Amino acid sequence: MDFSPTPRAAALTSRVADFMREHVTPIEGDYHRDLAEQRRTGDPWTPLPVLDELRAKAREQGLWNLFLPREHAGEYAARFGTDGGEGLTNVDYAPIAELTGRSAIAPYVFNCNAPDTGNMEVLLKYGSAEQREQWLEPLLDGRIRSAFGMTEPGVASSDATNMEATAIVDGDEVVVNGRKWWTTGIGNPDCKVIIFMGLSDPDADRHHRHTMLLVPTDAPGVKVERMLSTMGIQDEPFGHGEVSFTDVRVPIGNVISGPGEAFAIAQGRLGPGRIHHCMRLIGLAEHALEAACARGLARTAFGKPIADLGGNRERIADARIAIDSTRLLVLHAAWKLDQGGPRNALSEVSQIKVAAPNMAQQVIDMAMQMHGGAGLSDDFDLAAAWTNARTLRLADGPDEVHRGLIARLELGKHQ
Ligand SMILES: Cc1cc2nc3c(=O)[nH]c(=O)nc-3n(C[C@H](O)[C@H](O)[C@H](O)COP(=O)(O)OP(=O)(O)OC[C@H]3O[C@@H](n4cnc5c(N)ncnc54)[C@H](O)[C@@H]3O)c2cc1C
Repeated sequence: MDFSPTPRAAALTSRVADFMREHVTPIEGDYHRDLAEQRRTGDPWTPLPVLDELRAKAREQGLWNLFLPREHAGEYAARFGTDGGEGLTNVDYAPIAELTGRSAIAPYVFNCNAPDTGNMEVLLKYGSAEQREQWLEPLLDGRIRSAFGMTEPGVASSDATNMEATAIVDGDEVVVNGRKWWTTGIGNPDCKVIIFMGLSDPDADRHHRHTMLLVPTDAPGVKVERMLSTMGIQDEPFGHGEVSFTDVRVPIGNVISGPGEAFAIAQGRLGPGRIHHCMRLIGLAEHALEAACARGLARTAFGKPIADLGGNRERIADARIAIDSTRLLVLHAAWKLDQGGPRNALSEVSQIKVAAPNMAQQVIDMAMQMHGGAGLSDDFDLAAAWTNARTLRLADGPDEVHRGLIARLELGKHQ
């Protein structure tokens, strides 16, 4: 097992760290204040111009699309701005994801944000040449955004085989009907396409009933019914929407991989995406621990720095242990994925998908408590960070589903 980065990956990580320090961190406070103002007075869904400026700078420096996986990057890394012109392994990309996870805007600045990265990977791995030209290239170029529509309000969607929205082949078209929700990214006007999962053959076996296809957001019959809030946060400028599909017709060429292949694609999609989420959560937890230490040393109560009161030193030590051990767990999962693909890392990826959000939630919660009332306010970014970590105990599969898989694999060794 070797987690040491290649010289190229180490250099890229260091350049991303420099970029964060010089360009992202200094503007974040103003960015969030301006966004709050936009929320009150205008349209918070169109990204503020500062984000475009930062994206242009990141791209100029080749710090663009760094998520592109080595085995599928092909010529795209060179064509669309990745310095060095090739993709990274999961182990190599992990520290970069950790750095970007410290900030709510950085993943977008580097064109490495979910769900676009997962969607781009689907197109890289399973898309036809035409689909890649029409949708993948503009995504890599940063001209459009995308969403992933699987979860439905009407059915328990932690079981992907439950989906009821339909995608029925009719001649050389597919007709799409139904309702999705928690469709992340749909609030942004640049979101031009949804990877939609629909029931296409109810009589097939449960893992071949569903089809994935590309549905343009401007197709007649697609309607964003409302934007959802996550614990009071709307997550502008991307957001999470409830979307209805009424007799939406798309060409059959929009089907990804083939009818009935949705389940296989969903499985293939989530390995690297979960590594990215988990490493970003580690960055977020590091950021919260730093904030807790700074506040704990700077503020005094009962004659002592807050860090020295009660059990706070132990809490800080426990946070360090939790972050470092989770990082090792995630790097191990990334390494297993690099060695043998998603099937080689089924348990490990589910393990980190449980461990990282729970760890981050606890560390951020500790930091909030150390900040007193301020920790729950919008003056600090901890409340939003907590919500983000809490969200990831559900998004991409609830904790319980991942625990179920880990237990099944574990018990399987003894049967
Ligand atoms: C902020 C946010 C963003 C999201 N983004 C997207 C997106 O972009 N696209 C998309 O398609 N979806 C998205 N989701 C949806 C997310 O993936 C689902 O919420 C999740 O898969 C759970 O489905 P559900 O909400 O229908 O819960 P249900 O399936 O109704 O499950 C409810 C609860 O039942 C319990 N449970 C379920 N299965 C088991 C089990 N096997 N063992 C034990 N207990 C179990 C769990 O406690 C679970 O939380 C997002 C969700 C959130 C909160």
